[in-house]
Amino acid sequence: MKHHDLVHVSAGDLLRAEVAAGTENGKKAKEYMTKGELVPNDIVVNMVKERLSQPDAQRKGWLLDGYPRSQSQADAIDATGLRPDVFILLEVLDNVLIERVVGRRLDPVTGRIYHLKYSPPETQEIAERLTQRFDDTEYQAKLRLQTHSQNVDAVVATYNNVLKKVDGNRPKEEVFRSINDALMEFMENNSESLNASVAPLGS
Ligand code: AMP
Repeated sequence: MKHHDLVHVSAGDLLRAEVAAGTENGKKAKEYMTKGELVPNDIVVNMVKERLSQPDAQRKGWLLDGYPRSQSQADAIDATGLRPDVFILLEVLDNVLIERVVGRRLDPVTGRIYHLKYSPPETQEIAERLTQRFDDTEYQAKLRLQTHSQNVDAVVATYNNVLKKVDGNRPKEEVFRSINDALMEFMENNSESLNASVAPLGS
């Protein structure tokens, strides 16, 4: 996102902001998020469409994270002409994903994501203020993976012509390089701004 100056649009972040604000949509969404299930389209789709239509996303291009998560969500943005130029499918083994999710922490001050083992906080002060997502338990991560496996094939089939598979089991520097190669390949062949979608893996 920083490297290509894209706007990061995360469906999960948009939903968590609604939950934190205590809105009606947020209250309803939390019930599904706690169970690792998909939040209904009447909440998610407009939220994402609206964010993608904002001037910054239109001008710079976007990196859409965690959306679409079903065939109907793919159809919904497709109908408005919002199509990713590149669809990145991050393939990661379930046990690797679960370890990453359970150790994941957020610094509420800087917004940085840490991992207790793989990317620990730099200072004791940061360590003491880290928070954890309410759905980042092993049990809930497994529920999210189940939901993912029920939907991924239909979503991938929709974007087959722009699909790039990336082995996400490797260290983050290597994963970054592979994703960057896929984006550079698109940009070398096209002059317009880039829109990318990262396939959700429940992480
Ligand atoms: P994430 O932040 O991508 O891990 O998503 C966390 C949770 O938010 C998921 O387990 C779902 O309950 C919900 N969610 C995120 N994105 C979507 C989406 N595109 N459609 C439906 N629910 C979603």
